[in-house]
Amino acid sequence: MHSRFKKFISYYRPYLGLLSADLACAFIVSAITLILPLCTRYITKNVLEGNLTDGGNRIYMVGSLMLVLVLIHTVCNMFISYQGHMMGALMESDMRIELFDHYQKLSFRFYDEQKTGQLMTRITNDILSLTELYHHGPEDIVISILKFVGAFIILININVSLTILVFLFLPVMAVFGFYLNKKMNIALRTSKDRIGDINAQVEDTLSGIRVVKSFANEEIEKKKFAYQNKRFVESRRESYKFETYFYEGLYAFTQLITIAVIIFGGAAIIKASLDLADLLTYLLCIGNLTEPIQRLINFARLYQEGITGFDRFMDILEVESDVKDKTDACELDQAEGNLEFNNVSFKYKDNYNYVLKNINLDIKVGDYVALVGSSGVGKTTLCSLIPRFYEVNEGEIKLDGINIRDIQLKSLRKYIGIVEQDVYLFAGTIAENISYGKPGASLAEIMEAAKKANAHEFIMELPDGYDTDIGQRGVKLSGGQKQRLCIARVFLKNPPVLIFDEATSALDNESEKAVQDSLEKLIKNRTTLVIAHRLSTVRNAKKIIVLTDNGVEEQGTHEELLELNNVYAHLYNMQFNI
Ligand code: ADP
Ligand code: MG
Repeated sequence: MHSRFKKFISYYRPYLGLLSADLACAFIVSAITLILPLCTRYITKNVLEGNLTDGGNRIYMVGSLMLVLVLIHTVCNMFISYQGHMMGALMESDMRIELFDHYQKLSFRFYDEQKTGQLMTRITNDILSLTELYHHGPEDIVISILKFVGAFIILININVSLTILVFLFLPVMAVFGFYLNKKMNIALRTSKDRIGDINAQVEDTLSGIRVVKSFANEEIEKKKFAYQNKRFVESRRESYKFETYFYEGLYAFTQLITIAVIIFGGAAIIKASLDLADLLTYLLCIGNLTEPIQRLINFARLYQEGITGFDRFMDILEVESDVKDKTDACELDQAEGNLEFNNVSFKYKDNYNYVLKNINLDIKVGDYVALVGSSGVGKTTLCSLIPRFYEVNEGEIKLDGINIRDIQLKSLRKYIGIVEQDVYLFAGTIAENISYGKPGASLAEIMEAAKKANAHEFIMELPDGYDTDIGQRGVKLSGGQKQRLCIARVFLKNPPVLIFDEATSALDNESEKAVQDSLEKLIKNRTTLVIAHRLSTVRNAKKIIVLTDNGVEEQGTHEELLELNNVYAHLYNMQFNI
């Protein structure tokens, strides 16, 4: 907790100048609100005592002073409101960027467990609740203390018994306020959770909109959504209820105190133990006692909300990636593409079974190697170990004879190109998506890559050619087209090691041909590991590795494995019904 508090404070560091100015303004504002009633008192006393022999000059002077003070008060408050909020916004932005940066460092293991919607909430809503705390927190404390202490000193000097009277009310008011504030907080938190549920529902329905429509289940989705909305409204009803009690209650308390002061003050005037000017000052100062209470309650709420947000922020920020660079990890200037698996075993979680056990592989520079085996046997898993998406549990994987754990991640991944069945394209244009493989690539380079990937022709037929916007995740393209863009992206990256994970499995025969053709161009002079569902595509492989639950069951060329008449031969015969 202590270190978290330090971290919490540390976000102020770049804005210490702004913070000081903000606090100075808070100080001035508090002082002026205390001085103004004293000015009024001075004027009233002079009027009452008939000290106007100088033609009221003193009144005009004090009146002008009051005007100037009000002006300064306004300017300072404007500064607090504008610059203070901006300070909060800047701090929030710093935190958001830090969290985003951290998200990108976290490993696949982390993302296997997390819901994207939740992670989005952390970076938006949770951090948003901190802005108010960062901005109002220090200033609320300064203003509350200054006003309260100042008002107390002024009032006790005017009349002790009236002050005691007011202080009989204040604790009751504080207890009442803090109690309702707690209730309000709980209701607010519930409604925040509920808005999260609404978000999740919208995200789920819209992401699956194709499925929804194809089953014509719009009504069902609407009902689910209406249910979430109803829950949200209920929680808001609760929070509005307490909010009303809270604000109206505090207002009533303030009025009650004022009336009590008028009654008892009036009585004191009759008894001549108080004069009218004192009573007036008293009434004008009461706000300086009640406002700090309201402010502190408000601060308590901001604090609770902000700290909850901060805790959720830190919970993620403190997660360390289980895949990261060693301190002495080396950078590779170049890679040839020798891949070696030595007794590699892997499981996704400690309490899970091993997916891969004792895998040994030796893939030489420029080899075209195929990995086959039934679904779920661990082919994709094996491939994901090479770029260190996951860390092996036992054994080692070597690239050009160097353990991949000793290579900087960035450097390792630069030399590996991956094409999967499920391609991911970003919202944007075709050119932007291809150049993802080499940021800053020229249009000529992009076109060359597209040509090699057999994508140039279809791109030129699109309305805006390379500037065509492909929509969210490339929805405006067919599967084969998306696949070829991904291949173009890898062409630009130009890595010595390639991994194709069922790259053509989801395509129809015609697109498969086009994609297959471009893949063949891509694999020239590169080490390639291919996972193929259709065994027809792996026949030419230099080596076919057959993976079963027992590990690497057999390896050899197509002919050798058919000769062996074991697992591969069986798989092959099944596919071709021989
Ligand atoms: P293949 O590609 O050969 O079809 P996978 O490598 O995708 O098989 O999966 C191998 C096994 O690992 C499967 O039993 C699968 O359920 C499991 N698995 C895959 N990904 C994960 C994951 N992220 N977390 C936990 N288990 C996983
Ligand atoms: Mg797979």
